[in-house]
Parts: sequence; structure tokens; C-alpha cells
Amino acid sequence: MNMANVFDYDIGIIGAGAAGLTVASGAAQLGARTLLIEKEDRLGGDCLHYGCVPSKTLIRTAHVRHMMKNARNYGLPEMDLPPVDFSEVSSRIKSVIDIIQKHDSVERFCSLGARVEFGNAEFVDDHEIRLNGNRISAKAWVLATGSSPFIPPVQGLEITPYITNKEIFSLDRLPVSMAIMGGGPIAIEMAQAFSRLGTKVTVIQRDGQVLSREDKDMADALRSIMASEGVKFMLNAEVTKVRDLGSERELTVKCSTKTETLKAETLLVATGRAPNVSGLNLESAGVAYSQRGIETDERLRTSRKHIYAAGDSTGKYLFTHAAGYEGGIVVSNAIFRLPRKADYTNLPWCTYSDPELASIGLNEARAMERGMKYTVWTEKFSANDRSLAEGEREGMVKMLLDEKERPLGIQILGPQAGELISEWVAVMNGGVKLTTLAGAIHPYPTLGEINKRVAGAYLTPKIFSRRVRRGLRFFFNLKGRACGPDLK
Ligand SMILES: Cc1cc2nc3c(=O)[nH]c(=O)nc-3n(C[C@H](O)[C@H](O)[C@H](O)COP(=O)(O)OP(=O)(O)OC[C@H]3O[C@@H](n4cnc5c(N)ncnc54)[C@H](O)[C@@H]3O)c2cc1C
Repeated sequence: MNMANVFDYDIGIIGAGAAGLTVASGAAQLGARTLLIEKEDRLGGDCLHYGCVPSKTLIRTAHVRHMMKNARNYGLPEMDLPPVDFSEVSSRIKSVIDIIQKHDSVERFCSLGARVEFGNAEFVDDHEIRLNGNRISAKAWVLATGSSPFIPPVQGLEITPYITNKEIFSLDRLPVSMAIMGGGPIAIEMAQAFSRLGTKVTVIQRDGQVLSREDKDMADALRSIMASEGVKFMLNAEVTKVRDLGSERELTVKCSTKTETLKAETLLVATGRAPNVSGLNLESAGVAYSQRGIETDERLRTSRKHIYAAGDSTGKYLFTHAAGYEGGIVVSNAIFRLPRKADYTNLPWCTYSDPELASIGLNEARAMERGMKYTVWTEKFSANDRSLAEGEREGMVKMLLDEKERPLGIQILGPQAGELISEWVAVMNGGVKLTTLAGAIHPYPTLGEINKRVAGAYLTPKIFSRRVRRGLRFFFNLKGRACGPDLK
């Protein structure tokens, strides 16, 4: 930093994942002198390299194999499927990452006006960092360092080989068997994908349901679909000890009533995430943080108001779209100087199992926690013509309405749920009335009709009520039913 208290950069961003890249692109394009620092040798962060992109690519491959295995359900001859060569699957994953990587390249960010540096940044004080032996200052900083797999303190784990999301997409062969510690989205997506590819999978989950953030009925429905495909679940179960047996790992699992041992070739640890806060010397910058993440206010300012945090490092909503949204909030506050608060009321998310489980707004569990009164309306995919044609009849839409009959939240367990929730993103953000949704023409036959149908489910009893029938009879002299009992 020079003596005139002029900073080297207007804004410095640490971490080039979804959050950091959003801030860097926005700030640079708005004319701020921008520095983006990444500790790995490529941009993109977890989502591109070890998260969303490889997992969704793997899930698609597993889905294709599942369809081939179930060809008979589609009137096709049964097939004898040769075993999966996982090195081919990981090459496909790598090829998809490589394409997207071009979008997240140093050249692209340079063309936008941001300087990119690689290395581990460490704060010297609240405006200055040390990077590769140099000191660099910025007027504002953004901590966008993401998160890493949380490794639980289980006896023997430190000396037993295991994998996490960092290794799972580049395995050189398909494991014969896999024990998965955890029952969150990563565990569930990987369990189904590997099971469909031919691995014998057991999920060990501490809670009484998988996907603890979701309503139990929806999570249970998904679990039983996965169980019918062959995934084994141990609920209310805790891994207390692991042991390396050479070609296999042995897990001691304490269930509610007994203790069991289980052997698997591969152990996947998917027990949540820990924020990346170490090594940054945040103490020198005066930034407060806990094990759960970097503390921020609603404007995403840390305890030092010119240092912001966004994305997984805050430990709040661990999604790429949340990280991107928070990146935008930081740009508003730090560059535009327009005070803008983060609002997660209408944050959607999706677990990309098959069927997918997507959600927006409040579910029953969260509405009950808040002591809110609500009604529940459902519509099953088995009554949707397109679902039947697709052979995807499992699942339902569950809509919660508040006392004024406005949507509080929607959950969708079903085919393409992640796409279907987008209509509700528009409805909820735009304050669209249910009557508008129910009256809007949707193309037939589409899965999307289910959204119109669930809105209609709430309106139908009102429109076709006895009172309305009586009124119409009275005013227009309608003669009533032509078949079946007359309901008046
Ligand atoms: C298996 C898996 C599947 C997922 N699937 C989905 C999905 O389908 N949809 C979804 O929305 N989300 C998904 N996620 C979550 C998503 O990946 C994260 O929420 C998202 O990557 C968070 O973005 P971020 O910018 O906060 O962090 P990251 O993308 O992790 O980026 C942080 C960057 O900071 C760098 N960094 C860390 N410390 C330093 C330092 N000291 N100096 C310099 N650089 C540093 C890291 O190397 C990294 O590149 C998934 C995650 C996993 C693990």
C-alpha cells in the first residue's frame, strides 16, 4: 500500500468459485479495478470441478444405464448389460468440465477487466494481504472461499482410506460396494447414481429420514423409490468406528437398538460441509467467524464493514445459485453503494435424484416451526398424462397455502422437478395469483400441467360448490344433473 493511502485495487476477491466469479465479473464490468485470487490452478471452484457439474453428468450417465436396464418397461427387449468401465464415465465427466472451464477462463476474466492471480492469500491487516511473497491492498475485500467436506471425528477414520466429493468423480474403476456416511443431497445423489451403475450401496444416516431439510413424507417417498432400486438405508444409525481391512473398509454402526458391522470396498464421507476459513489469517483482518462460517449481516458485510463474504464460506445456503445471488448483493453494496439485503424467502433448491425433489418457500416442517397456519394441496404425477407416457409416474406436487390462501411454499417430487419449480419461482417472486396460474394455458401434454392442476385443486371446490350450483340454477334455470344422484 502506498503512503497516500491509495489502494492497489478497488476490490479484491479471494476464491474463484460461483460467488467470487460473480463478484469479479460484475465489479470489473462496472469499472472497478478488480483482483481475483484463486488457490487452485484453475477457476470455477467446487461446483465446476467437484460438485454440480460432475455430479449431474454422472447422474445422467447412470440414468441412461437405468433406462437400458429397464428397457422392458418401455416395450423393448431386455438387454444384457456389460459391467461399467468407470474410467470411461470419468472421461465423460472431465470432457464436460473442460467445455465449461473455457467459460471460466483467466482470459475471459481478463477481457472483462479483472486481474487473476493464483496462490494462497493471507491477510496482513484489514486492507492488505500477502500473496506469493507480495503485499497487495484493496479498498474492499470479498471472502468467497467456499467450503470443504466436513470429516466427522469417527474412531479410525484418520487411518482408513475414504473418498469425498473431491475424489469420487475421477475413480479409475467402479467400486463393487460403497458405504456412504450421510444422508444429505450429495449422499443421496451419489447413492442412486452408483447403485444404478452397478455398485452395492448402503447409506448410513444419523437422522430418522434422509434429506433432513425436506418434509418427511417427501423424503420417505424418495427413499422408498431408491430402496426399491436396491439402495440399502440405515436410518437413526451412527458410524462409531471404521477399520481398514486392506481390500475393504469395516464400519461399526450403532443403530437405535443394536450395533452392526458392515463391509464395503469404498467409503464415501458425505456428512456435510465445513467453511474454508483457515489459512486466511482472518484474525489479522478482524473478521469474525465460527465453525459454521464467516459471520455477515444482511448486506453480507463481515465484522469489518469493507470486507464482505458470499457463498459457502458463510455457511448459510450451500448452493451455486445462492452463491451467485450473494455475489450480486455484494456488487450492489460494494460497487454501486446501493444498500441491498440478501433475502432468501424465495430461494429454490433441488436434489437431483430420480425422481428429483425440488422446493421453494416454506415446507410443512418450517411452517410448523414458525407456528404458521397452512393448508396442504397435492397433485400426483400418476394423474399427469405426460408422466404416464414417459413412464415416470412416481411423486407429487405439494403446495402449502397460508391463511389468506397465498402460496407459502411448494415441494415437487417428480420427473424434472428442478425445471418444474421454475414456474413457482416466477409465481412467488411475481406475486402471481393462483387463479392466474390455474387459468393460464399450458401446453398439453406436459409435466408442467401439474402446476396448473395443483393450483386448480384448490380452486375447484370453490367453483363447483353447491352454493354456486344453486345460484346458477336459480338465475338461469339450469335443470341439474343428467346422470347419477342429483346433488342439488
Ligand atoms: C457433490 C456436490 C454436488 C453439488 N451439486 C449442486 C447442485 O446441483 N446445485 C447447486 O446449486 N449446488 C450444488 N453444490 C454446491 C455448490 O457446489 C456450492 O454451493 C458452490 O460451489 C459454492 O460456491 P462458492 O463460490 O461459495 O465456493 P466454491 O465454488 O467452492 O469456490 C471457492 C473457491 O475458493 C478457493 N479458495 C479457498 N480458499 C482460498 C484461499 N485461501 N485463497 C484463494 N482461493 C481460495 C477454492 O479453491 C475455490 O475455488 C454441490 C456441491 C457438491 C460438493
